[in-house]
Amino acid sequence: MSQIPPLIRYLSAAVFLGLGVLMLVWRKGPNWWIGVRLPWTYADREIWDKSWRLAAVFLVGMGVGALASWKIFFISTAHLLILGILYPIYLYRRKYGTIRYWKDAGWLNYRPMAKCPNCGYLQKLKPPGNPAIITCEACGGTIRSE
Ligand SMILES: [Zn+2]
Repeated sequence: MSQIPPLIRYLSAAVFLGLGVLMLVWRKGPNWWIGVRLPWTYADREIWDKSWRLAAVFLVGMGVGALASWKIFFISTAHLLILGILYPIYLYRRKYGTIRYWKDAGWLNYRPMAKCPNCGYLQKLKPPGNPAIITCEACGGTIRSE
């Protein structure tokens, strides 16, 4: 860990720690430039927020790692990249029973789809997205309720 010039070490620490702490204290809704920007996070605000927090923690880990140990840095980076993608997909799958989504025209207009556990019917959820209670259009059963 000593071969890397201190300037690079401090710069990376400042960038990642700064971004991580910023993301811990400040929350922003789905947007095009910061956050875990995936169709599954765009489609669901709850999943967006949870992925945001996870990313913030790993960014702090990267910042601390840049100062303390490049091993921690690389482990945090790997976790951020892998879990940052798998975690929202997992949450989405658990919530909607599918990883499919649909999209209207427009930038961030991803919408969730939901699969009925009773009849297997896959339906597009209409805006406003992320309803607490989802009823199956085909069989009338409850897909999800909170
Ligand atoms: Zn159904």
